[in-house]
Amino acid sequence: VTPSKEPDPAVLPAYGCQRRTPLAHHNAMLTEALETLARDAAFGGDETRSLAFTRAASALKALPWRLGSLRDLAALPGIGKHCRRVIQEVLEDGSSAEVEAVRRSEQYRTMQLFTGIFGVGTRTAASWYQEGLRTLADLRAAGPRLSRQQQAGLQYWEDLATPVTLAEAEAIRELVQAEARRILPDATVTLVGGFRRGKPTGHDVDLLLSHPEEGREQALLGPLVASLEQQGLLLYQQRQPNTFGQEPSSSSMDQFERCFAIARLALPGAGDPSARRATRVDLVVAPRSQFAFALLGWTGSRHFERELRRFAGRQRGLALSSHGLYDPQRVRTRGGTLWGGWGAPYAGTRAALAPFCC
Ligand code: ATP
Ligand code: MN
Ligand code: MN
Repeated sequence: VTPSKEPDPAVLPAYGCQRRTPLAHHNAMLTEALETLARDAAFGGDETRSLAFTRAASALKALPWRLGSLRDLAALPGIGKHCRRVIQEVLEDGSSAEVEAVRRSEQYRTMQLFTGIFGVGTRTAASWYQEGLRTLADLRAAGPRLSRQQQAGLQYWEDLATPVTLAEAEAIRELVQAEARRILPDATVTLVGGFRRGKPTGHDVDLLLSHPEEGREQALLGPLVASLEQQGLLLYQQRQPNTFGQEPSSSSMDQFERCFAIARLALPGAGDPSARRATRVDLVVAPRSQFAFALLGWTGSRHFERELRRFAGRQRGLALSSHGLYDPQRVRTRGGTLWGGWGAPYAGTRAALAPFCC
């Protein structure tokens, strides 16, 4: 436990991407309370409210000491009234009645359960809740209405709900890289997502595939997935083609070729070599010219990426995506949507990014 300290009012910069935010920080009780409310707001479809709670939690994670009193909040940007009230409750009583009520509520618990299933988003989960469904058994009974992805998510739910360890993720990366290099000898496979941020466990394994020679990476994913499938290593796979420069991008998804899969892999260190478990794996393919941006974009966290993009737009007048950093003056739009193939990336890319990455 770290001692509480007098705040320096200028201590934290306004954007999440400007702050050092360690995994192990000093205010876990407060951030868990606020993140519960953030999730609950998102479950109810209120993204704005959810973002306010997420922002407050993000700032608290970057605070280099344990928050001791409300006065310390002067050091933090953007803490609204509601967040203050919750923080005060936790500081004074050790917990917040509002947060505890949310955690106990049937709606929150059901939404947690349903959105935790592979292939189930907030809207689907909410509609199931509205229909009175509450358990996995309820969903199984409603079988025919489930997508192929959701059926797989339910079928392997128990394995998929078990956290993936770093050792397992490394083993999967190595297996995928060995297989990729049989197809293309210089292919690279990089572990991204939470593990690249230093998390010891994760809900899936995110792998970024590329090749030193621009264009060669296009010949990788098809044969790779086919080969893994032939060896019986995939329980589910769903490929999507690269749409960069062809179709308007939806707001948060990038347009790389990808495969969302459930792998069936041997457990490293398991006594029984036939011991296998289902593991979620995301494979993403980026050409060399976009690799740095894909690496940045797929490392997360989601909130860090959102803040980085907001910073790029508001403070630098640039548009950042997992494909590049662009000058919006030169971006063509169609139907009000940004297009992927918007001309050459911004020339000052490295200079513009230097203070925040690396
Ligand atoms: P966990 O350990 O729970 O897997 P994570 O941070 O790795 O946490 P993921 O959902 O696997 O979370 O996503 C990793 C990162 O990849 C996200 O932070 C996000 O920036 C990016 N990402 C994930 N899915 C997509 C997508 N469909 N399109 C674009 N970027 C994505
Ligand atoms: Mn992940
Ligand atoms: Mn993922």
